[in-house]
Amino acid sequence: MTRLIEVNGREDILPKYRNTPIGLLLEYQNLNKTFSAYEKPRMLIGMCMDNRKNLWVPDNFAYIIRSGGANLFYHEFQVSYAIGVGGVQHIALIGHTNCEMVQLEERKDKFINGLAINAGWEKDTAQMHSKTFRLFLKLAMRWIF
Ligand SMILES: [Zn+2]
Repeated sequence: MTRLIEVNGREDILPKYRNTPIGLLLEYQNLNKTFSAYEKPRMLIGMCMDNRKNLWVPDNFAYIIRSGGANLFYHEFQVSYAIGVGGVQHIALIGHTNCEMVQLEERKDKFINGLAINAGWEKDTAQMHSKTFRLFLKLAMRWIF
């Protein structure tokens, strides 16, 4: 069961997240909280690379890893770095609606043609690349969800 909670006021933030970096993230992003100054990161945020999405957080507040579908596969070292060296103890993984990283099969031709036109790839190479990474993402998404 998926349950989303709309955050329109500080009282909407679950008590266990208030006064934590997760609560601050929600306050910055949803409630337009005035930015504070940070000397070190308070958390790690994983989110999709989608150009339609952005974050409203102060400088130095968080490490941010952006990848297709907010998938952190192959970002294990960066996650470990944020925890081990950066000292973060909170991680938020942000998903969104209408993510273009799902149902990649539908955009296969656009992907292949785009690589050929925009990057000069041979179509065979682009097809192989598309097939390999669509399979990878499909497996990764199954593992996560
Ligand atoms: Zn997305």
